[in-house]
Amino acid sequence: MDTYQEPAKELSTRDFDVVVAGGGTAGVVTALASARRGAETALIEAKGYTGGLVVEGGTALHSFYNLWKAFPGVKKRQVVKGIPQEIIDRLKEEGGTSGHAEMDVGYDYDSVCTAIDTEIYKLVTLEMLKEAGVHLFLNTFLCGALSEENSVQGAVVESRSGRELFRAHTFIDTTGYGDLAAYAGADYEEPNDHPVANSMGVANVNLEEYHKFLEKHNALREYAEGFRSGEEGKIVRLHANMDQLPEAFRTKAREIGMAAVTTSVHDDYFMFIKLNYKMPVSPTDRDEVTKAELKLRRQQKQAIELIREYIPGCKKAFVARSSPSLCIRRGRVINCDYDIPLDDVLEGRHFEDEIMVYGFHDLAPRLQIKDGGTYGIPYRALRVQGFSNLLAAGMNITSDFDAHMSTRNTVCCMGQGQAAGTAAALCARKNLGIRELSFDKLKKALIEDGVYFSDY
Ligand SMILES: Cc1cc2nc3c(=O)[nH]c(=O)nc-3n(C[C@H](O)[C@H](O)[C@H](O)COP(=O)(O)OP(=O)(O)OC[C@H]3O[C@@H](n4cnc5c(N)ncnc54)[C@H](O)[C@@H]3O)c2cc1C
Repeated sequence: MDTYQEPAKELSTRDFDVVVAGGGTAGVVTALASARRGAETALIEAKGYTGGLVVEGGTALHSFYNLWKAFPGVKKRQVVKGIPQEIIDRLKEEGGTSGHAEMDVGYDYDSVCTAIDTEIYKLVTLEMLKEAGVHLFLNTFLCGALSEENSVQGAVVESRSGRELFRAHTFIDTTGYGDLAAYAGADYEEPNDHPVANSMGVANVNLEEYHKFLEKHNALREYAEGFRSGEEGKIVRLHANMDQLPEAFRTKAREIGMAAVTTSVHDDYFMFIKLNYKMPVSPTDRDEVTKAELKLRRQQKQAIELIREYIPGCKKAFVARSSPSLCIRRGRVINCDYDIPLDDVLEGRHFEDEIMVYGFHDLAPRLQIKDGGTYGIPYRALRVQGFSNLLAAGMNITSDFDAHMSTRNTVCCMGQGQAAGTAAALCARKNLGIRELSFDKLKKALIEDGVYFSDY
């Protein structure tokens, strides 16, 4: 391969207390927590909006609650509160959520369905970041890091305003891909153990007709009613037991990696239908990603044809929106001081240094947290190994596939974000390394800011 020696450049620099790389699911909450604790906080986001996979990939936010409905006698508990719940409250004011709609069918998977309007989510989170005084850098790509010995000195960013260096006391990687940690020289793995996806919003459809179709085939796997188009008591989630659906539909759907689960907060709209594709290599490979982008868009076209043909009320369905680029379920997994094993999750273990509790597993009912309870995420699990000032939150922690199938979910990522942002701000204020921070002080701050810990 030919190479080119790029000339050295002088970069303009900016100084912050905390730099958060990635304004997605975890990053938004991270930056809010950090700025509200008084830290001058920069949030770097490659796209022109915030929210990440919450607004691009998922169907519902799993989960603010424990799995109480699957365990007779177990109490209903909202186990994630704080900033994540505040976002839902703001969405509610704007008519942008189904609310925490109780699952009537499929409550052995999740007790509630919390669906959101993705466009309102973008606006609400941008407004909240502005109100908190976060220095927001949209359309700005993190493309390198400056590190010395065991600390990150700066994040190199690129935008149409040029290439710059953002320096800070503490850094947090919420890129999902683990870009900042990788650029800084941290250890990571790339397991490539999930399909990538492009989730499409489908309009001109009818949830009631889809429901009837599923009932007719005895294929209703999940069902919840909540707020939709301003009315309460409307269907907001449906999931099919694919094995029960007509063979021709089922075979084609499997061929094109189409999932049969959808949610909605609007009439005549499925948000989303997921199309999956298993890449031969990790989604950090640009050339293979390019091929996958085209493949997924072809699959979307085939999916629309399938929906039009088989699902009543959907004859004029069309793709109303798609993800701007494919969604990953994980890219790099960063090595942290603690790697959450599956046993911790299933046994519902709790820790002296836990920063949140969580009660959902994406492989339920096969894998559930013991007795409908919760497990704790230890602060150690967010500290990037070998670095004194680098934290990570979101899908880029937890290497075990089955444990990750819990920790990677949106509401868990958001909770981790609140803890990481709070810890970083406290470290910056007292000029401490991430391992020097008193856990009691961190926990006290998290409790003050509405994080739920007790009653597990
Ligand atoms: C198809 C799909 C469906 C899913 N369904 C659900 C579901 O129904 N419910 C659920 O709870 N979970 C679901 N998940 C899982 C969940 O959505 C994700 O694991 C979680 O949202 C990840 O959050 P995150 O903050 O780690 O990453 P993200 O939300 O992806 O945020 C990362 C952000 O960093 C930005 N970024 C990345 N690299 C750079 C860079 N170099 N420079 C600047 N910015 C950068 C990205 O643009 C993005 O905004 C789904 C995931 C996928 C892929």
